[in-house]
Amino acid sequence: MAAYEAVARLFSKDAGVPIVNFYALLSKSVGGGVVESEFGGGNLGLNHLSVSKDALASPMTYAVYLKNLIDHELTHYKHGKHNEEFSSGREAMGTKRLTYCLMSSALPRQ
Ligand SMILES: [Zn+2]
Repeated sequence: MAAYEAVARLFSKDAGVPIVNFYALLSKSVGGGVVESEFGGGNLGLNHLSVSKDALASPMTYAVYLKNLIDHELTHYKHGKHNEEFSSGREAMGTKRLTYCLMSSALPRQ
């Protein structure tokens, strides 16, 4: 949960999307599926019980999982519900964020 909040705060600042609170989802379902995350009113939730074993295979896979999940939720702020505009916005945000991550990882370490 701490990693989720840290990554989300970093990305939200870059995306210009304010996040007020973080909270844990445990058993919310919509349309028969378990909700992995949600965003509304500046509040960002994560169901840490729904994180797949594939995502937890390594620190890198977990980082990619968090990046994709947060990109998705922050896209809702700017593009609303799931539709074609949302999909286009999600792809644009994902590309921008991936570029940001790759550039950050290429920075020299001390
Ligand atoms: Zn969504």
